[in-house]
Amino acid sequence: MNMAKLLQVSDLRVEFLTGRGTVRAVGGVAFQLDRGEVFALVGESGCGKSTTALAVMRLVPPPGRILGGSIRLRGDDLLTLDEDSMTQVRGRHIAMIFQNPMVSLNPVYRAGAQVQEAIVLDQVPKNEAWRRAVDLLGRVYIADPAHRALSYPHELSGGMRQRVMTGMMVSRQPDLLIADEPTTALDVTIQAQVLDLLLELRDRTGMALLIITHDLGIVAEIADRVGVMYAGSLVEQGPVFDIFEEPLHPYTRLLMRALPRLTKGQGSLHTIPGQVPSLIQLPPGCPFHPRCPDRMEICSTKMPGLTVPAGGREVACYLHGVGERQ
Ligand code: SF4
Repeated sequence: MNMAKLLQVSDLRVEFLTGRGTVRAVGGVAFQLDRGEVFALVGESGCGKSTTALAVMRLVPPPGRILGGSIRLRGDDLLTLDEDSMTQVRGRHIAMIFQNPMVSLNPVYRAGAQVQEAIVLDQVPKNEAWRRAVDLLGRVYIADPAHRALSYPHELSGGMRQRVMTGMMVSRQPDLLIADEPTTALDVTIQAQVLDLLLELRDRTGMALLIITHDLGIVAEIADRVGVMYAGSLVEQGPVFDIFEEPLHPYTRLLMRALPRLTKGQGSLHTIPGQVPSLIQLPPGCPFHPRCPDRMEICSTKMPGLTVPAGGREVACYLHGVGERQ
């Protein structure tokens, strides 16, 4: 079995040139994904998770630009491909689903026709593509798929639209599916169905999943490994069980505390004091130091590098050594 990494992101840097200054949205992020693996990027809003995902698709909108680093898919650096080659990669090898399915669904086309259209891209005759589209809608748990295939997006519920979009995105059997907050707009029951569906598709096709979420409950349910982002950097990553069992970075610990505890009458939600810093003007040193309960003198002067305190884990915090800067 080929154990080569499916996706290797190294020293990825993205910035947005705005009238107010340069937003350093992603500053030297590195992670990798194996085939069939589920990797979750977590963190508060505005910490660079979605920009990282868009950068992997090479879809960072202007005035954003990828400043440097590499994004290798099966060894090929996507940042060196011309736009035609990158268009081939999107959809065929990497697909993305969004929180709002209407970003991907065209309101004036029937649901089945949209899935059919994606399948036709692989030179499948139209009749056969329609048959496969209806079959696929059934496999993403759309009841009565032959009938629903004729519905327009506005005639479907939010959960159904999300499943149609997922069906459309996996119709070409991508190697990697990126899901940006895929269930945030859905109620809890539908949310569970969509997560089950993603895992089932992973099991069936061997695709890898990159999930972007602020919800640690989803991470616990679906991910094999997790990366915690803060102010444009990955501050901790490792196997999901280890990080939930023993978070090392103070930010990860506080994120865990912010999880609602709904057992034994504890319904309170802790919040993390302070705010994510402006990505235009990051504080000197460790970007988390203004909010960190464990900060030391060095923390406000020099950015900590990544250390590898235990197998498969990385953390950027002076509590765990000095480390090397990415
Ligand atoms: Fe806190 Fe210092 Fe670690 Fe940053 S480096 S998380 S400020 S202890």
